[in-house]
Amino acid sequence: MVTKPAHSYRFPDARGFYGEFGGAYIPEMLYRNVEELRSRYLEIMEDEDFRRMFRLLLSDYAGRPTPLYRAERLSLKYGATIFLKREDLCHTGAHKINNCIGQILLAEKLGKKRIIAETGAGQHGVATATVCALKGLECVVYMGAKDVERQAPNVARMKMLGAKVVPVTGGSQTLKDATNEAIRDWISHPEDTHYIIGSVVGPHPYPDMVARFQSVISEEMKIQLQEQTGRSKPDYVIACVGGGSNAAGAFYHFLEEEQVKLIAVEAAGEGIHSGRSAATTQLGTKGILHGSKSLVMQTSEGQVVEPHSISAGLDYPGIGPLHAHLFQTGRAQFLYATDDEALAAAFELAELEGIIPALETAHALHALRLLHFRKEDVVVICLSGRGDKDLATYIRHLDKKQTGETIRKR
Ligand SMILES: *Cc1c(COP(=O)(O)O)cnc(C)c1O
Repeated sequence: MVTKPAHSYRFPDARGFYGEFGGAYIPEMLYRNVEELRSRYLEIMEDEDFRRMFRLLLSDYAGRPTPLYRAERLSLKYGATIFLKREDLCHTGAHKINNCIGQILLAEKLGKKRIIAETGAGQHGVATATVCALKGLECVVYMGAKDVERQAPNVARMKMLGAKVVPVTGGSQTLKDATNEAIRDWISHPEDTHYIIGSVVGPHPYPDMVARFQSVISEEMKIQLQEQTGRSKPDYVIACVGGGSNAAGAFYHFLEEEQVKLIAVEAAGEGIHSGRSAATTQLGTKGILHGSKSLVMQTSEGQVVEPHSISAGLDYPGIGPLHAHLFQTGRAQFLYATDDEALAAAFELAELEGIIPALETAHALHALRLLHFRKEDVVVICLSGRGDKDLATYIRHLDKKQTGETIRKR
């Protein structure tokens, strides 16, 4: 059902709800930590000194503003003017660093000496370890034992950056078990520890806080579009959604501009009905995951379903509450791309523009094939990250692709 909210899309209400999604569903033991953050985050983020330090690190350390690149050959192919917002050029290779810089500065202001995080594929762990090295803070990253094995290069990066990586051996030994362990740690260290969550998920105030840190993406887009096209509003903004932080950042300053079409692309894995998918809006139902009410892939008994996507960053059984709200109200359109469609889109971008995108980002690129543009349309795609980390997957596919071509030629 499409319902028009009376409040703005951008801000949750005082209890952290976007429509009916969000809130803070947390164990009693966590209340003190979350409440400290909730009562301080806005005041700190609006502090002059904080804003100056955040801006400075975004520019001199992370490399912002990232370019808004007019992709000529892609534009020609899809019959619209297509821009790529180059988050792949950020330090550490993706947008995740924006949020980590924000949260490490916030942790400092709160007087915290120790940082914890959970990570699945290791991308958020690396970004967290990076900012901890930058600030000389102790860093502990919880990671499922299976993921530690699968993601050896990122484990090595985190260790080189001085983080302690703790393999979690309980449960399925993946992301959700690592999250449980991080929460346990936070409960036992309420005084000195800050928990850096990597997407617009978790209990209030995390979704709002992370969206605000990532909103620099659309803030820059507006200025850059004005300079390059003479108008600050595009017709479309397209982004992939795992938890939804790069999409939240890319949509943020356009959320109230209803003529800007917002397109979110989820991972359909091996197909929506294959049983191996991560397309939460297609398969999910209302439920509570990681401390907030949202859409969740779960059984009728409320057991979380193991998601699947070729891209580790989209391999998540939920979406942030903001996105659940955008889906429910129809403010954003949700599309999906399968593993194979994402791979094809990644190869196309490499060949047409000389840019190898992250597999996550490749899902967003697939939307170009699903939408019907007018030739005067201005389209911005959030190029959330670069593909170096996905090279092993691309190599496997390249072999298949070339074998296929050889067979066809004969
Ligand atoms: C982690 C990651 C994502 C998914 O996370 P969101 O919070 O949905 O943005 C997307 N792209 C890249 C490159 C990532 O590393």
